[in-house]
Amino acid sequence: MPTLLSWGRHPQTPQTPTPCHWPDDLSRGLADLQRQGRTTLAYGAGLSYGDSGLAASDHVLHTIGLDRFIAADWQTGRVTAQAGVTFEQMLSVSIPRGWYLPVSPGTKYVTLGGAIANDVHGKNHHRHGTLGRHIVRLGLRRSDRAPLVCSATDETALFRATIGGLGLTGLIEWAEVKLMPIRSSRIRSVTQRFDTLDEFFALSATLDLQHEFCVSWIDCGAAGRSLGRGVYMAGDFADEGPLEVAHPRRLTMPVTPPVSLVNRATVRAFNALYWRHATRTPTVRTGSYAPFFYPLDSVLQWNRIYGPAGFQQYQCVIPEASARDGIAALLREIAASGLGSPLAVLKRCSDLASPGLLSFPMAGTTLALDFPHSDRLTHDLFPRLDAVVRNAGGRLYPAKDAHMSARDFQDSYPAWTAVEALRDPQLLSRFWQRVTR
Ligand SMILES: Cc1cc2nc3c(=O)[nH]c(=O)nc-3n(C[C@H](O)[C@H](O)[C@H](O)COP(=O)(O)OP(=O)(O)OC[C@H]3O[C@@H](n4cnc5c(N)ncnc54)[C@H](O)[C@@H]3O)c2cc1C
Repeated sequence: MPTLLSWGRHPQTPQTPTPCHWPDDLSRGLADLQRQGRTTLAYGAGLSYGDSGLAASDHVLHTIGLDRFIAADWQTGRVTAQAGVTFEQMLSVSIPRGWYLPVSPGTKYVTLGGAIANDVHGKNHHRHGTLGRHIVRLGLRRSDRAPLVCSATDETALFRATIGGLGLTGLIEWAEVKLMPIRSSRIRSVTQRFDTLDEFFALSATLDLQHEFCVSWIDCGAAGRSLGRGVYMAGDFADEGPLEVAHPRRLTMPVTPPVSLVNRATVRAFNALYWRHATRTPTVRTGSYAPFFYPLDSVLQWNRIYGPAGFQQYQCVIPEASARDGIAALLREIAASGLGSPLAVLKRCSDLASPGLLSFPMAGTTLALDFPHSDRLTHDLFPRLDAVVRNAGGRLYPAKDAHMSARDFQDSYPAWTAVEALRDPQLLSRFWQRVTR
């Protein structure tokens, strides 16, 4: 049985999986480990970057085999599916019937269970909030109770703790999700370059109101007067057109190179080219949803480009009042360090509240950035960035994290004690061990 890592391949703690294909495999897996006095954790598609999806025991229950649809009402757009069903599978049945996921992250390969456990957000947070707002009910298996159903009216405390609960409150067996109606699977998008961070905030303040989906790419190496330059992208489902599932051609990164292909020179060259390629006047085009929502999915196993040491993503959110200054301070630190990658994203989040206790987004601006892993990153740059986020009243995203201190986690997610009180004693992640000690 091959072992599993997280998407960032750091920390390098291989996980031994027990495959789960049937709901009873979940209860059996928990009971077997309980007898051996060991803890475990669910592992979906393994697309979380750091250690929140890695078990403290290094033994996981692999839930991607729970991949069946249970029920669907195509009049109301309500679909019930097992936790291992991926967003790709969900879209392949829902798009032809005129429905899309209400919230989708930047990859369609996530599982429903994994997406709920991180209460994922997408390019439409300002309209739809997080995925947790669209979950009607979910089935949970725990080591200390019979299978149970949680919703906003039944087992409410567990429902709220499980949404964004990092897989700690029980194994999600299935969930019912409310989809959103679409008339076409094509996206009408607008792309526009901006020269400064102030321009980003001005564009976002007006265009976010007009579009359903918004996100910006940012040049993390630009400094001085170019600090914060980037490309703003917005889009909406077209009113007319086919309802077609996309099957884009996919390449695979075949091997892990001996060193990271992402370095100061390649980042600088890519960023300059990408930025210049976009124009200051808005470019409008209509095309398939796939390249708009999931550009990175076109290269399978792209995480290998960072070499054997892997990489870390830094994703934080800075509250509205301090967003401009906080993001500028972060970008100054990053540009000065010469570290970073072309995958840098900036996006405004709204105040639409999630039912989840540990949900990441808050009204403000989120910055997400990948870095090849190195000691300099963890001991020099990240502590500087953490200080900016802390002083600005922001927080880091556990789904992407492999370094947050216990103090920062506990201060910025005060509801963690409520989740700890409801944690299944058989479930424990490396992340949770690190941030709650
Ligand atoms: C290219 C890329 C783009 C991304 N873009 C975004 C984005 O835009 N927004 C965003 O929010 N996130 C984003 N992410 C992060 C990703 O959406 C989340 O990490 C997601 O939770 C991964 O789902 P997964 O199925 O791979 O779960 P895993 O990574 O395997 O697990 C995630 C968590 O879910 C728990 N879990 C999994 N299955 C179950 C289950 N059945 N029951 C209970 N707990 C379970 C695990 O224990 C773990 O804590 C992105 C990731 C990548 C690689």
